[in-house]
Amino acid sequence: MTQNKNKVVIFLGPPGAGKGTQAERLAAEQDLVKISTGDILRDHVARGTELGQTVQPILTAGQLVPDDILIALIRDKLAGMEQVRVIFDGFPRTQAQAQALDLLLEELGAPVTAVPLLEVPDEALVGRIVERGRQAAARGEAVRSDDTEEVARKRQQVYREQTQPLIEHYEGRGHLYRVDGVGTMDEVYSRILNGMR
Ligand code: ADP
Repeated sequence: MTQNKNKVVIFLGPPGAGKGTQAERLAAEQDLVKISTGDILRDHVARGTELGQTVQPILTAGQLVPDDILIALIRDKLAGMEQVRVIFDGFPRTQAQAQALDLLLEELGAPVTAVPLLEVPDEALVGRIVERGRQAAARGEAVRSDDTEEVARKRQQVYREQTQPLIEHYEGRGHLYRVDGVGTMDEVYSRILNGMR
């Protein structure tokens, strides 16, 4: 049964492309565990853990948390999983993280299954992020400290410099496919599913 098979999906795409939303739905429908490194880090910040205190200023500046911290987090998450059925949202973000993940997955005998790349034009991305912040505020929810226009721009720049090169990493292995990220949530979701088979 497919439910009992390893499956490793990595969502790639710039901040604001909608990775989190799409990954959430795919995880629910395909019985996968969503591993969102941004959520994990923000949870540490909210709880005021030692890690949270270390990473808080980095998140607020829109920069990347050091690779060794992220790699240790992911190693912990995957440790002891009998079946590796996961979606990565926000990891890997650097070449070093991608290489570490390749090794970890090899050890677990669970190779990458699919890497959807969500594509959204640059002009739309910052607007989406700022709008998300506004809506959260309107609902009385906490607004991410990095969802301001200035930090959102910084995050795009960091993405272009450090994460975009991973497209080649996964393209070379034949796992990557491009998904038009402009449209309704349902439209984008169908494109993701279509690309997977
Ligand atoms: P977005 O994709 O919208 O920027 P995330 O929630 O994925 O949002 O990430 C928020 C922040 O968390 C990043 O700007 C970065 O500071 C930190 N972070 C998340 N994942 C990683 C990672 N894999 N490596 C380094 N830093 C990370």
